[in-house]
Amino acid sequence: MFFPADRKVELEPTPVFLDVKGEGATFISHAHADHAVKSAHTVISTPETMALLRCRNYVKKTARHVSSTRDVAGAKVTLFNAGHIFGSSQIKIEKNDSTFLYTGDLSLTESLTAGKADLVECDELLIECNFGLPRYVFPPRMDVGQQMAKWALSNEKQGAISVIGGYSLGKAQEVIAHLNEAGITPLVPSQIASVSKCYNDNGCKRLNYVDLNTIEGQSCLKQSGFTAVFPLREVSAELGYVLREGYSTAVRLAHCSGWCLDFNSPGITGFPLSDHADFNDLTQFVEYSGAKKVHCVYGSAEQFAATLCRKGIDASPVRQQSKKTDGQSLLTNFQVV
Ligand SMILES: [Zn+2]
Repeated sequence: MFFPADRKVELEPTPVFLDVKGEGATFISHAHADHAVKSAHTVISTPETMALLRCRNYVKKTARHVSSTRDVAGAKVTLFNAGHIFGSSQIKIEKNDSTFLYTGDLSLTESLTAGKADLVECDELLIECNFGLPRYVFPPRMDVGQQMAKWALSNEKQGAISVIGGYSLGKAQEVIAHLNEAGITPLVPSQIASVSKCYNDNGCKRLNYVDLNTIEGQSCLKQSGFTAVFPLREVSAELGYVLREGYSTAVRLAHCSGWCLDFNSPGITGFPLSDHADFNDLTQFVEYSGAKKVHCVYGSAEQFAATLCRKGIDASPVRQQSKKTDGQSLLTNFQVV
């Protein structure tokens, strides 16, 4: 049923492509740019993912949307929570007594804005492996988020400015939710505000934030000590220097990313707040699934497949070439977010 080279589930008359472009329906697991397919005519996704895709102009205005559990080309299609970001989902396709599951990006630990992934049984599995090496073991997301918020609260009480970096879609909103739990309403730039508004408008836990590009936002900058959430790449030593010069006060910087396990920038506190499954969770997911065949994709796919093979599980990495996928899509679809 599944063709790894094309990332395609062959259903008659309409095949389903998985987070890649193709001639058929397209399952979009979540709204990160490296999974969105702008040219898709028919999109299978959760309503929340479709709302985020539209908010970011990641799909055509005319795209047809399919979300609820229903038959697609004679097969039963069910979406399960992937726990990665708000709206993220896995897809299970059942046909002729055979079941196939694609996880998209996945997280098994509880979060404030995305819950956690459902464990799902299947015969054949395509699983993400961004953190598929044994050295990647994350502390629980909730614990890391609470530590980060405690750090920011302590800074505010000392009159210091905190700037926390995270990806604009998903991580920034999880950071805002944790700051809110600690009683902090952070300042955010417009690109994070617009995504956060989309979260609020589509039923996520209410996020409280102030857009920097408003009168209220500008007046908040005059307070002694405030907390801001910015895109990860903008939180740098240079930004710290500019803020220190401009405000004549202490400035504390932080990055929130799973990759903080690997490296941290000098002078920037790293919080390993990841929205991906770590090595142990990936292993647990595969074992629970009971899959007889496992395909591994993204990140450490080759190494994780080899790990599974040593456990006696039939696993292989997905080769990343496809005639159905243009060059640009190949590039964007296999970068980690
Ligand atoms: Zn993602």
